[in-house]
Amino acid sequence: MVKQWFLIILTLAFTISCSKVEKAIDTEKEVKMEETDKIVKTEEEWRKELPSEVYYIMREKGTERPFSGKYYAHKEKGIYVCAACGNELFSSDAKFESGTGWPSFYQAIAEGKIETKADLTGGMVRTEVLCGRCGGHLGHVFDDGPAPTGKRFCINSLALDFKKE
Ligand SMILES: [Zn+2]
Repeated sequence: MVKQWFLIILTLAFTISCSKVEKAIDTEKEVKMEETDKIVKTEEEWRKELPSEVYYIMREKGTERPFSGKYYAHKEKGIYVCAACGNELFSSDAKFESGTGWPSFYQAIAEGKIETKADLTGGMVRTEVLCGRCGGHLGHVFDDGPAPTGKRFCINSLALDFKKE
């Protein structure tokens, strides 16, 4: 009788510990999937990796002087990517001449490539545009853009790299 109870308890203990192991493996999988989607680095790592002027724009949410960047009047066909992580952000097909001195686009290349967030700094109500992969600051989006979207994504040249078609 005692032997039987012992066996039952042993079986139960084994089952419980097995299900715990399975759960642990599941959470590990979830974390790994998120890691491939998003790039998460410490500010110290970004500071080492990015040129200081790019770090200022993308991690400290700075703004380059208008008409100072290399892409505001850039007209080649291709894809503008994130200067920090290479994520594809805007197609040259969506670029337009806004006259602001910053590269301007009426839409992102695909959904999820960028993220937007309310920005209440500087006594203004603006919408900040961030890289959807690394969270780097790109610029702001306004509602005075051309058709078909009516949006104007006002982006810092320093937050972009260009891949020629
Ligand atoms: Zn990025």
